[in-house]
Amino acid sequence: MQKITVVGAGHVGATVAQYCALEELARQIVLVDIIEDLPQGKALDMWESAPVSLFDTRIIGANDYGPTEGSEIVVITSGLPRKPGMSRDDLREKNVEIAKLVTAEVVKASPDSIIIMVANPLDVMSWVAYKVSGFPKSRVMGMAGILDTARFRSFIAEKLDVSTEDCQAMVLGGHGDSMVPLPSYTSVSGIPLKQLMSEKDIDALVERTRKGGGEIVALLKTGSAYYAPGVAVAQMVESIAKDKKRILPCAAYLEGEYGIKDTFVGVPCKLGAGGIKEIIEVELTDEEREALHTSAELVKEQLALVEL
Ligand code: NAD
Repeated sequence: MQKITVVGAGHVGATVAQYCALEELARQIVLVDIIEDLPQGKALDMWESAPVSLFDTRIIGANDYGPTEGSEIVVITSGLPRKPGMSRDDLREKNVEIAKLVTAEVVKASPDSIIIMVANPLDVMSWVAYKVSGFPKSRVMGMAGILDTARFRSFIAEKLDVSTEDCQAMVLGGHGDSMVPLPSYTSVSGIPLKQLMSEKDIDALVERTRKGGGEIVALLKTGSAYYAPGVAVAQMVESIAKDKKRILPCAAYLEGEYGIKDTFVGVPCKLGAGGIKEIIEVELTDEEREALHTSAELVKEQLALVEL
């Protein structure tokens, strides 16, 4: 891949750029922000780490979209993060305006790009990027599920005292407290979680996963998580850039899958060249299906408040 753009050179954006550079996922990464000199400074600092970290990806910073022209993937992280006491939905009004402006610029500079939305409230922002860009649904997606499953997996590994590598998990739904972790699709080296942990312990980890973002916000006090979100985005970029066809939970536009229409919500997607190649529909219990529908309805309530 030739060029990846990351819009927003804040905590998440800079972390995404760094992981993508470390993995040499493109020849060039452009970091864009409205704050003068900030993206240039962070880009230069990262580039100066290249001889030690051993990568040749060139990272540059910019305050306009000229240098981003022709990007194949654009990651949008521009927007306010949460502070203690805020829900992701509290960010909606401000971040919608930013997403509209940024998406319009992205379309002009990189009309064939794939957009990965990161700003919150994630499902709403993904929908805004989809509507404003006019891109096909395969080329607009949101990152949330990889982060939510990573949190669940890290808690499982800690509880069972096993390698994180062996912990697999699945989380569906909107990126909020209504997300739907699926213990029935969660396993450790292929062993169903239910054989390794009591129902009570699983429920406690599910609850911690739902509130995982808030746990970090409460600790950081001045912003939200960025290490785990950054690497989660890089995993999506890698699957697309290398056409790996990984099946990863992503926010995707649904047109009837899971009985849900006209909204973005987290579902397992096959990611490869061109973006979302397929949405995978897994069997759900009645209870899980109901929780997914409730989660999608909550996203739709937010969408109804958005003016495009
Ligand atoms: P941050 O404040 O550190 O960075 C945001 C950056 O966006 C700032 O540097 C700001 O100047 C820039 N920005 C604002 N308006 C812009 C515009 N019009 N054009 C270009 N840049 C602009 O925040 P952060 O911690 O990096 O978080 C960024 C967003 O990502 C937040 O909305 C946060 O809630 C979200 N987030 C999402 C997930 C997820 O799982 N999807 C995880 C973590 C954070």
